Amino acid sequence: MDSASYDLIVVGGGNAALCAALSAREHGARVLLLERAPEAQRGGNTAFTGGGFRMVHHGLEDVRKVVPDLSEGEIANTDFGRYTAEEYLDDLGRVTQYYCHPDLAETVVRQSADTVQWLHGRGVRFVPRFGRYAFKHEGRFRFFGGTVVEASGGGRGLVEAEYKAAARNGVEIRYKARATALLNGRGGVEGVRLLAEGAEETVRARAVVLASGGFEANREWRTRYLGPGWDMAKVRGTRYNTGDGIRMALDIGAQSYGQWSGCHSVSWERNAPDFGDLDARAAFSRNGYPFSIMVNADGRRFVDEGADFRNYTYARYGRVVLEQPGSYAWHVFDAQVAHLLHEEYKSRGATRVQADTLEELVARMEDVHPARFLETVREFNAAVRRDVPFDPNLKDGRCTRGLVIDKSNWANTIERPPFLAYSVTCGITFTFGGLKIDTSARVLDVCDDPLPGLYAAGELVGGLFYYNYPGSAGLMSGSVFGRIAGREGARYALGLQSRAA
Ligand SMILES: Cc1cc2nc3c(=O)[nH]c(=O)nc-3n(C[C@H](O)[C@H](O)[C@H](O)COP(=O)(O)OP(=O)(O)OC[C@H]3O[C@@H](n4cnc5c(N)ncnc54)[C@H](O)[C@@H]3O)c2cc1C
Repeated sequence: MDSASYDLIVVGGGNAALCAALSAREHGARVLLLERAPEAQRGGNTAFTGGGFRMVHHGLEDVRKVVPDLSEGEIANTDFGRYTAEEYLDDLGRVTQYYCHPDLAETVVRQSADTVQWLHGRGVRFVPRFGRYAFKHEGRFRFFGGTVVEASGGGRGLVEAEYKAAARNGVEIRYKARATALLNGRGGVEGVRLLAEGAEETVRARAVVLASGGFEANREWRTRYLGPGWDMAKVRGTRYNTGDGIRMALDIGAQSYGQWSGCHSVSWERNAPDFGDLDARAAFSRNGYPFSIMVNADGRRFVDEGADFRNYTYARYGRVVLEQPGSYAWHVFDAQVAHLLHEEYKSRGATRVQADTLEELVARMEDVHPARFLETVREFNAAVRRDVPFDPNLKDGRCTRGLVIDKSNWANTIERPPFLAYSVTCGITFTFGGLKIDTSARVLDVCDDPLPGLYAAGELVGGLFYYNYPGSAGLMSGSVFGRIAGREGARYALGLQSRAA
């Protein structure tokens, strides 16, 4: 069946898609947005996020542009610091081992602040990220790690605000509509084929923006591309990101790009459900490991828990846990740091044991080699530089010396009862491999030529993240390229830009 035709179709219903749809409408296009999920589960991984945006800023005045209602008290008691374009580019380069595509990185970084302001102008409310990205130091909040704002209401708040804006601006939306293929004619992309209510349809459009996420929820592709064992990872977010958009574009000659064997993955509650649960969104995170020692089934440490701020290590430590025997690990804390653990460690359903002696603790863990665990803790405690003060607010340099794997910061002895241990496995957030785009968000073929009429944004774009990821760069890059894709797609569709390749 053939339905009505549009100037532009957006495939996907998360942040990148909504930014594309809004931007295309602003440039005069008639837009249809296809969301595979039912309305109650709309918003993809975006709905599961904390809503954090990593943007360039130079302190209070820039923050105020997107948080105009900061109170006098907040202003007086907060040091927002600054996060320059150079620091952002350095972070992207450093954590991706300098594989990050320089032009794509520049585009995200240089347009980050302006794009957050654009979202703010479209009704997205932002608040300072006091909760986890600022510590109180000498009576003032001090931000660290490059992220100062988040959408009010987190990911859900962001999605609600973006869908409201889409409705206000006349974006047509279809839920439970799964795009399955691109219609590709002589002049380029001409629409999509989709499945809705079990029936196939074609919908025509002059341009298509793909924003349908990565392949993290596709067990088979995970095993195929990330490697053996990845079928067993828990999916932290939506069940709908199965790589459809990537496949559809590859089928018409798009170039595969970025790190197909790489993904963002974290320490995650070991007995969490297979997919994310929007109502218990944060309950499964286990981000307190910088203050812990992490041990595996053999009772051994296997990673530098304090290598950097959590923001710069968490996205690669899921893989490290997956690689351990049985793909699990334990975060072990003592009473000296228990107060630093976030709420989710206390949530019902956490796989947690507590004891007054280390012997009892490891007996309760059940699946950790007891003698080696005790030896690990003994060696660790003996190696801690007790002369360096512990400070959770800074990279304190309180390290160990002489261990096979030293801990670089926040090395606390595990000696004061009660002792606590939490069991974790690997939770996958999103995949890094996908399509190649240029800085106009045009999808490129294997010769680096644009596929006429095809644009992409968000998780399914390859080339930005490799090995690791600086926290809160996902929403930011999806917004920047979503906005560009919508604008460029609209201009192409309306004939304001050359329709030749
Ligand atoms: C638990 C969690 C916390 C996170 N926290 C943060 C954070 O604070 N800050 C940050 O920057 N990033 C965060 N991220 C990463 C962030 O979610 C992603 O980078 C970002 O949301 C991706 O946006 P997107 O629009 O590309 O994909 P998504 O938001 O996942 O949207 C993809 C959409 O495509 C739809 N879809 C899939 N296939 C089809 C199809 N065939 N047809 C039609 N529709 C389809 C899906 O239903 C979905 O609506 C987090 C991720 C998770 C899981």
